[in-house]
Amino acid sequence: MRPSLRLHSPPPLKLAIVGGGPSGFYAASRILQAFPNQPSSAKVSVHIYDRLPTPHGLVRYGVAPDHPDVKNVEHKFDQTLKDPRIQFFGNVNITSSSSSPQASNATQEIQASAHFPSALNLSLSSLTPYYNRILFSYGASSSRPLKIPGSYPGQLSNYHSALDFVNWYNGHPCSHDPKILRHLTGGRSETNDIDLLKGDKRHLTVIGAGNVALDVARIVLRSSTPFLEPSGGGESTTSSQSPGLLALSESDIPEPVLAQLCKSKFEKVDIFARRGLTELAFTNKELREMLTLAGTGFSPLPASQLEQAYLRVEEMSKRFEKEVSEGRRDANELGPGSKGDTRVRKRLLGLLEKASKEMRSQQGGNSKIWGLKPFRSPIELQADSQGNEDTVASKGSSDPPPVRRVEWSLTAYKQEGPANISSEVVSTGESEVTETDMVISSVGYRSEPLDSIGAQPSLSTNPIDAEDRPTKFGSNPEGSALELEKLPFDSKRWIVPNREGRVLDAEGNIIPRVYVSGWLSTGPLGVIASTMMNSYKVADNIISDHLSGESSREGKKEDDHSSFLGELQTPPREVETSSQRIVGKEDWEVLNAYELEMGKKLGKLREKILSVDEMLRVIS
Ligand code: NAP
Repeated sequence: MRPSLRLHSPPPLKLAIVGGGPSGFYAASRILQAFPNQPSSAKVSVHIYDRLPTPHGLVRYGVAPDHPDVKNVEHKFDQTLKDPRIQFFGNVNITSSSSSPQASNATQEIQASAHFPSALNLSLSSLTPYYNRILFSYGASSSRPLKIPGSYPGQLSNYHSALDFVNWYNGHPCSHDPKILRHLTGGRSETNDIDLLKGDKRHLTVIGAGNVALDVARIVLRSSTPFLEPSGGGESTTSSQSPGLLALSESDIPEPVLAQLCKSKFEKVDIFARRGLTELAFTNKELREMLTLAGTGFSPLPASQLEQAYLRVEEMSKRFEKEVSEGRRDANELGPGSKGDTRVRKRLLGLLEKASKEMRSQQGGNSKIWGLKPFRSPIELQADSQGNEDTVASKGSSDPPPVRRVEWSLTAYKQEGPANISSEVVSTGESEVTETDMVISSVGYRSEPLDSIGAQPSLSTNPIDAEDRPTKFGSNPEGSALELEKLPFDSKRWIVPNREGRVLDAEGNIIPRVYVSGWLSTGPLGVIASTMMNSYKVADNIISDHLSGESSREGKKEDDHSSFLGELQTPPREVETSSQRIVGKEDWEVLNAYELEMGKKLGKLREKILSVDEMLRVIS
């Protein structure tokens, strides 16, 4: 239930949101809706910060280009930006406050961050005094490492994380901007190393069986059907013979990416899961899409494997019911064995069974094929057929050999049987080696601490000198403005520790007026609707804490929750005086219109600008 505004005038709410992706926007829209924009109403101001010049985060750079219906939510976010009470500050990288001695009372900008050399680096200690609440919603923008031989940077080429691959096909500056790539590769390269065409690539191996794995597989399978030979000149070629590709050519996929997909010869994709068919992490809707992909067949699963999975779902359901009857579980609980989960899993197995039967009776006709390989956990990526240590590239080589083979440990459930069903698997002691031309590891994303998402702490920071501070706004001029030096981070769970979105310190106490939402608070779970629900809940907590003047359910009163530097609309002084180009919401409108116009000329939804400097040039 939404918190209601009291009739007598509550203090103004000035909220900074760090991260302009779906979570930040959903929270912002919920808060703006809760404060009606009328003269008699409580005042609210929301400032969204993003280290990229563009808003929308994962919707722009994570959602696959052939899912324009999901991307439609961008219109809602742009509608939110039209509200005069919200501002966007793009190209601003928020960093932890430096403990460097040079940082004492300087008001300098950090000139460049590790990843975003054109962005203004703004420390928390410079940002927070201008607000009375802050919400962190910068998501999960790094990959879980695989940590097996052959998977470490520089060891093998044609091995990529799903994050890098998704960034590539979605036109993320981290994959296309020469300046950023130079930073990311320590000056070695200005181009990314994703090349679908070099070396006659036919077979892709995907490690991990979640929705991102399906996105990656689907995009590769949508490449030219049948593939087109290069037509010279390197220009993009689309074909009416390739319905799979058509969906991409009309999307917002960048032209250089489309050009590669047009000529790619991939004809086989295998998705490997370390557990069984009962534990597959993708959702039924996405599986159905894969199974109906034009020109692409599904490699049938052995009937015995499907039977075993059905039995297992039944056993899990029975165990759940037994536990409910014994009072050990609540019948309405979600999770393995619950009614809802059992229904969804049976439907997923039904889809796999149907597709397997159809494919067994079908006589060819598909130029491409994809398959699922359960019970296989990767143990080594190898360069050639030997699989010994020499096959892995010599350390430091500038041109690593291509990955050619993957060694898998075969797995089985820890303890089988109705009495004790474990979803954990263990190695059977056997292994298997498969051939491949490219490997993408799609084993999940993770969030990073604020410090490691682009900060260079040694470069000084900009706390404001006490005498320089603008007048405090709010009912109590003596009250303390919000101050935060560092954002806590749980490096075991890779999230910001929190209770219902309220950030916790090392002792587990709520830090007043500091919040976290979305994947940064939960880990990378669920679909976009789950992020919306999470963000709405956190936004409701922000509103109720603000209205009650309490920071938590424990009822602790805050010292002065209404104070902040400057006026309601005033951003930090560094933002106003920065020599770096800050991208406002009007600038975004210009960029957005430019990209849509470029797209229109090419007969597609949008053509994204791929480098930060080019974005800044367009708005200047
Ligand atoms: P995910 O759903 O967590 O899947 C990760 C997969 O990697 C699982 O199969 C997992 O297996 C496997 N894995 C993890 N560590 C491994 C290891 N060391 N070796 C081998 N396999 C390993 O993550 P995701 O696919 O990155 O998706 C992230 C979130 O975004 C999900 O909530 C997803 O639904 C969402 N998403 C949604 C859409 C959509 O709605 N269309 C699209 C993309 C993403 P175990 O289960 O055995 O750990």
